[in-house]
Amino acid sequence: MIDSHCHLAGDEFSGDLGAVVSRAQAAGVSGALVILGAEDEAERARAATVSAAWNAVRFSIGVHPHKAAHFTSDPDEAVRTVRRAVQSEPLARAVGEIGLDYHYDFSPHDVQRDVFRVQLQLAREMKLPVVIHTREADADTIQILRDERAGDIGGVFHCFTGDRDMAKRGLDLGFHLSLAGIVTFPRALELQEVARLVPLDRLLVETDSPYLAPVPHRGKRNEPAHVVRVAQVIADLRGTTIDAIEVATSKNFARLFHPVTPTGHTD
Ligand SMILES: [Zn+2]
Ligand SMILES: [Zn+2]
Repeated sequence: MIDSHCHLAGDEFSGDLGAVVSRAQAAGVSGALVILGAEDEAERARAATVSAAWNAVRFSIGVHPHKAAHFTSDPDEAVRTVRRAVQSEPLARAVGEIGLDYHYDFSPHDVQRDVFRVQLQLAREMKLPVVIHTREADADTIQILRDERAGDIGGVFHCFTGDRDMAKRGLDLGFHLSLAGIVTFPRALELQEVARLVPLDRLLVETDSPYLAPVPHRGKRNEPAHVVRVAQVIADLRGTTIDAIEVATSKNFARLFHPVTPTGHTD
């Protein structure tokens, strides 16, 4: 199983990273995509510790919509920051998480849109897939992805929580949908419906650790080992086996993020 989205280089894991990685491996988690904030020097510095502790991790680097306000006066500075960060991280495989968050409103909406757009343009230039974060901003997110022809590079809507219509729009753009622990919450009926209808070749699973622990760990710090629980719930919803979910999501992950070099050697 692969955790397609977690924040293992976050402060929350500094104290016991080795134990967290051991528990993931013992649970059958064979890799992870670790998100780094491009503007977060401390987090990026910890990336080396993460890849030393777990050589199967790959990284995705971007400016999160919450941090877009840092670049209010100059959105292009976000591009320069992300480009430098990606170029200096040999295990970088994607740009993200990037997108729009109108729920928390930590950055003005117009600034979020500008910073999102320029990072999509950078991803196209660098031929990297994108990891999208969108919350209460469905229409603008889809519009910008279309304007910037993001379907050419593809990517994933991470921690997808939209309805069936949004799922269809994302899939029509050629994107993958990644489901997190929210799908295990008893009241997430619409999302459970989405979990049944995502084509198997577009599905990914994630924890978004340290956030969003699945039932029965809800409310505690989340960690990659719990991605197995997410996959089990999806398997039950679809009337299939967890092995089938593992095979499909691992294949999708490899196609999208190229965790190994073409020679088959991990790099
Ligand atoms: Zn997110
Ligand atoms: Zn995240």
